[in-house]
Amino acid sequence: MVIVKTAREISLMKDACRISANALRLAGEYVKPGINTWEIDEKVRKYIEKQGATPSFLGYGGFPASACISVNNVVIHGIPSKEQVLKEGDIVSVDVGAFIGGYHGDNAYTFACGKVGDNAQKLMDATRISLEKGIEAALAGNRVGDIGSAVQKYVEARSYSVVRDFVGHGVGAKLHEDPSIPNYGTAGRGVRLLPGMTIAIEPMVCEGDYEVEVLDDEWTTVTVDGKLAAHYENTVLITPDGPKILTIPG
Ligand code: MG
Repeated sequence: MVIVKTAREISLMKDACRISANALRLAGEYVKPGINTWEIDEKVRKYIEKQGATPSFLGYGGFPASACISVNNVVIHGIPSKEQVLKEGDIVSVDVGAFIGGYHGDNAYTFACGKVGDNAQKLMDATRISLEKGIEAALAGNRVGDIGSAVQKYVEARSYSVVRDFVGHGVGAKLHEDPSIPNYGTAGRGVRLLPGMTIAIEPMVCEGDYEVEVLDDEWTTVTVDGKLAAHYENTVLITPDGPKILTIPG
């Protein structure tokens, strides 16, 4: 069931989204060669808790950390670890949400660790811009397929591929609500977008093929071909005046 939020709910969502965005920006400041991903997760957890919020992902479905930290060929759901030390040239996708006042925010960004290769930079740029294209299509009266189509067209025109097995989602009192927001699809098809809907748009884009697999830890999701992947996400409010990104630091 698609949920349209009231003005009061949207105001609470804004708090959750601002804290989520600040946590993500903070994580990015720590992405440097030599740090391990557990340390970054600790910074994120402490920041969120200091705001009186709860990390949305901690314990979600049994996930053991506050942020998903996914390096290089890991697409999403990487588990932070003391053993995983970042090195120059890594691309590091951080996905983090915060829960406060009964609502969640959700956002992700792929950070460069030091100087990255040209291929990595191009993939990151294309994925970030594909998110912008998806958001631009998130107009009241449009349909979910308009978002997916906009993302997919931008990505595939650059010979990259869009992950099929994982998609964006409604977000609100629950971290994952209806409708699903695929990063592929047909314009004009699917659920209609209404003012007051809050959705997480999150392209996951692969340098090579879009096939992914989940490792034995039941979380870490990698590209089957071992090539790079990038992931950007914002929580977006549909309004009569166009899409409004809620996950903005402040
Ligand atoms: Mg999400």
